[in-house]
Parts: sequence; C-alpha cells; structure tokens
Amino acid sequence: MPRPVLVAVDDDRECLSALKRELGDRYSRDYRIVCTASPKDALATLEKLAEDGEDVALVLADQWLPGTTGSELFGQVRRLHPHAKRGLLITWGGWGDPATGQAIFDSMAHGRIDYYVLRPSHSPDEVFHHTISSFLLEWARDRRVAPHTIRVVGEVWSGRAYELRDVLGRCAIPHSFCLADSNEGRTLLAGAQTGSKLPLVIFPDGNVLADPTNAQLAQAAGAAVDPEHTDFDLVIVGCGPAGLSAAVYGASEGFSTLVVDDGGIGGQATSSSLIRNYLGFPAGISGGRLAEQAYEQAWVLGAKFAFMQRALDLRREGDQIRVSLSGHSGVRARAVILATGASYRRLGVPDLEAMNGAGVFYGGPASEAPGMAGHDVYVLGGANSAGQAALHLARFARRVTLVVRAESLAVGMSHYLAREVQANPNVEVRLCTEIIGGGGEDGWLDHLVLRELTTGQEETVPAVGLFLMIGAHPHTDWLPAEVSRDPRGFVLTGGNLPTRAWPLERSPYGLETTMPGVLAAGDARHGSVKRVASAVGEGSMAIQFLHALFAADGLARTEPRPQAVS
Ligand SMILES: Cc1cc2nc3c(=O)[nH]c(=O)nc-3n(C[C@H](O)[C@H](O)[C@H](O)COP(=O)(O)OP(=O)(O)OC[C@H]3O[C@@H](n4cnc5c(N)ncnc54)[C@H](O)[C@@H]3O)c2cc1C
Repeated sequence: MPRPVLVAVDDDRECLSALKRELGDRYSRDYRIVCTASPKDALATLEKLAEDGEDVALVLADQWLPGTTGSELFGQVRRLHPHAKRGLLITWGGWGDPATGQAIFDSMAHGRIDYYVLRPSHSPDEVFHHTISSFLLEWARDRRVAPHTIRVVGEVWSGRAYELRDVLGRCAIPHSFCLADSNEGRTLLAGAQTGSKLPLVIFPDGNVLADPTNAQLAQAAGAAVDPEHTDFDLVIVGCGPAGLSAAVYGASEGFSTLVVDDGGIGGQATSSSLIRNYLGFPAGISGGRLAEQAYEQAWVLGAKFAFMQRALDLRREGDQIRVSLSGHSGVRARAVILATGASYRRLGVPDLEAMNGAGVFYGGPASEAPGMAGHDVYVLGGANSAGQAALHLARFARRVTLVVRAESLAVGMSHYLAREVQANPNVEVRLCTEIIGGGGEDGWLDHLVLRELTTGQEETVPAVGLFLMIGAHPHTDWLPAEVSRDPRGFVLTGGNLPTRAWPLERSPYGLETTMPGVLAAGDARHGSVKRVASAVGEGSMAIQFLHALFAADGLARTEPRPQAVS
C-alpha cells in the first residue's frame, strides 16, 4: 500500500525548509512528504495523485502564493481529494493582519479549509505538531484507518451489513467492513470456521456472531444493553447531547444514573459532520466525535448505559417512577429526564442531502449567517422560524429568498412577521415554489433548482446557502397523558405548564413536566433552541433542579392537590 501523502506549499524558502524538516523528521515513516514553493506544481501533483487513486491526508498552503491564493488552491483540493484535511499556513500573530484574518474567516465559513496552522518557528515545534497530529487523527477516523477491533464481513455494503455497521457506529465501537469475496473477506471467513449466513461479525477474541440482532451485537461488543440493576436515582431517556450532558452531571454529582436509548450514542448531533458553534472547538468538531467524548466522560464518572432499548411508558409507582423498556422488564428511578429529541423533516433531495454542512443546513442560521455575507442565500419553510431566519440572514447576505410551498405567507406565519419579511428590501418571497435539486462544483453548494408548483416551470438559481426550516417532530408520542405537551407534541415544562395540569402544592421546578419528578431537556422540550449547546446546557440544568427536587421529595410526592389533572 502506498503511504498517504502530506503536501505543503509555501513560496517563502525559509518557511518551506522548516516545513520540510518538521514534517520529514516526524511523519516520513508513515506518510510521503511533498513540499513545494510552486502552487502550479502542487496542483499538478494533487491531480496526478487523484488520477492514481492515492490518498492525500493533508494539504498545507500559504494564503498569498504566486498567481493564486491558498483559498483557491484549497477549493481544488476539496474537489480532487475530498477527505484531505486542509490547513492554511500563517505566521505567529498573522491573524492580527486584517487581510489574513478575513481569509481565515471566509475560508472557514465556506468550508475551504479545516483550520489555520501556525508555521513551525523552531525545532521541535510542539504547537505545530499538535495541529498536524490532530488533522491526521481526524483524517484517519474519516478514512477508517484508525485502529479497529471488530470486523464485519458481508456480501454487499448495503442492507443488514450496513445496519450492523450503523449499530456499531452508534455505540462508538471502532470496526471495519469488507466484502465476502474480497481477499480479506475470504481470509476472515476461512479463519472464522463457520458456514453460517452472512453478515458475520468477528471479534478480536475469535468470537463470531452470524447476523446478530442489534441488541445482541451491542451487548457482545461491550456496549451495555441490559441494565445491571433495576433501581436508580435517575433514568435519562435519550443519549443525544441533552441526555449525555445530564449523564455527565448526574453521575458526577453522585446520583446513580442510567441512560437508555433506542439507538446508541449521540442522537441528531451525529448527523452533523462539523459542529462549528459549540464552545471550545474553534476548528469545529464532528457530532459523532463530540458524542463519543461525552459518552466516555459520563462512563468514567460512573453513568450506566443501555442501548437499543426503547422507552415505552412512564408510570408512578409509590415514590418512584417506572420506565418500561423494549426487551427488558423496565427500570425504576427517583427522577426521570426526558431527552428524546426531535426528528427534523428531511428535504429528501439526495444531491442536497449530500451537501449537509457544505452550504445546506438544517435549522436556523445563527452561526453560519456571517459567512453568508455578500452571497445569495435561500431559506425553505413557511413558519415563523423560517421568517425569523430570513430576517436574520438579510443582515448579512446579498439577497435572501424565502421559498414557501403555500400560496400565502399567512398560512403558516404570524401576521406581524409576514409583514416584516415582506417589507424587508433584501428578502424576496417565492410562494407556491419547491426546491427539487441543486449542487456545487467544488464540494460547496453553488446552485439550487426551483420548481413553480402551479406551472411546473423549473429554474436554476445561484445559491451558496440553503437553510431548511421545514419542521421537527418530537419523540414524545410514547408518553402518558400526565405529561402535558403543546399541540405539536413538545413537552411543556416549568413556567410553561398549564396551572390546572400541575398536581402538587409546591411549584414545579424549572424543567419539570406536569408529572412531578419527570423533567425534560433538549429538543423535545417546548421552547427549546434546537442547538447542541442549549441541549447540553439544559441537561446540566436539569441536574441542579434534581437536588431541590430530592430535598423536597417526601412532601411533594405525598400531598397531591385535590384538583389534580387526569
Ligand atoms: C443535520 C443536522 C445538523 C445539525 N447541525 C447542528 C450544528 O451544527 N450545531 C448545533 O448546535 N446543532 C445542530 N443540529 C441540531 C442538534 O443536533 C440538536 O439540537 C441536538 O442534537 C438536540 O439534542 P437532544 O439531546 O435534545 O436530542 P437528540 O440529539 O435528538 O437525541 C435524542 C435521543 O433520544 C433517543 N430517543 C428518542 N425516543 C426514545 C425512546 N422512546 N426511547 C429511548 N430513546 C429514545 C434517540 O434515539 C436519540 O438518540 C443539527 C441537527 C441536524 C439534524
């Protein structure tokens, strides 16, 4: 196997030789290093490597190169080697130069670079190597060349083999896949000494499972499925950002804590390839990686997990709450946190789904809006959230188009907001219109295809941003009637509780639902912000309310008001 390639481009001779030295000394055993002063030569090398099917792990380039800019070169890199990490080289303090600062900002906003890299200034320069090894680790994870222990062998990539890989992925278990008729597949099947049906899952200790159920696989792979005990201080339903945060804080404050999820780790956050608006990760972090780290953190603090278990019902049993689970008789807790999230309605246009995070965004534009400065941007949706998103974007974008399927904004938007949208000179509203296609040449959205519903006429328009605000459905259908919800199914909590529905003398705590002792956090909660950071914040807040709840426990649970709601 040829070694993956690291490419560095810098026309400053001194800097180029420092790059050669640092990269060569530290990485040449595992990577082939190509350093050049010429962007033309770099591009030719990258084209040849793409033609030969060779892997490029990392490209570093200066912003100001003869005849081109680093940002332009990175655009080509993304097209030729979509998995390569891209680092913009700057000198110490370079971010203070307004032009360089702007180049970093624009390139990050449009996904042309992964981050900036400080040129090596001395040897060994551990700051430089920290950045490089972080890039290489991320690249290895993306390419699945990081160490893996479990092997899945299947006839085809899709179907049950895909589902099994998905289960392992959602339980944060490193694994690899190969086809049964590949060289590796034949060797593994011969070694497994079993004539069983595919797909096979082969463990490092030689254990083999033939087409296991999801629960069998998760359990065999070390992710707990059956809770070891049935009584806990706290049961958290949902292992997305809100549930994971509640698990970290709950376990760290000494509560015996169980997290159950009908899938694995991470919830909706795992569909985001790069979360750029979560505190403390200036280069962004993938939703999957963030969830894995939070899971490890909760686990080392003592939280227990049960994956592939769906919560089916909640019921009070004396001073405890019983959570019925699929595949298990159920668990009991002094308090329950509902962190079951919501599913966003998807657009279902494959070309645009593939650009999720690369110009196409589900949800509001809070963090991406400044990066849309001077560009044409589209918002799809006819509700208030879409109107607000359009107005926010209009402060930055050259032009915002709000695409609505309905014949009038009045169908889904408050009157005051519809008037504001229509009065904004920077916002155009296209009614009776849908989005049926789109794409981008160098890995970032550059056009959309719209269709007018009444005439069927199609039009291709330039666009660098598409914000999809087409609704979310909370996972709360399974809850009993005692847990009050808004008309769309989001759980009501704290100050939003209908007074009649609250059964106790004491007031409800901040995130408490109409079922005392049951709290809600994250996207499933009425009025939540639908962001990773706010879900995490609510998960931790819920734990603070538990302290007060447990202190008030006896009184609260034994003295229901006479007019308690049915
Ligand atoms: C494509 C996409 C990209 C996004 N990008 C960003 C971004 O860049 N930045 C950002 O801040 N936000 C982003 N978001 C929003 C963010 O992911 C959510 O706001 C966040 O994940 C909400 O966390 P949560 O824990 O409340 O719910 P979720 O993440 O939805 O987790 C809920 C969990 O509950 C489980 N569950 C549901 N019902 C049951 C049940 N009955 N029994 C057991 N388990 C159950 C589910 O399996 C799931 O694992 C994105 C969302 C999407 C869809």
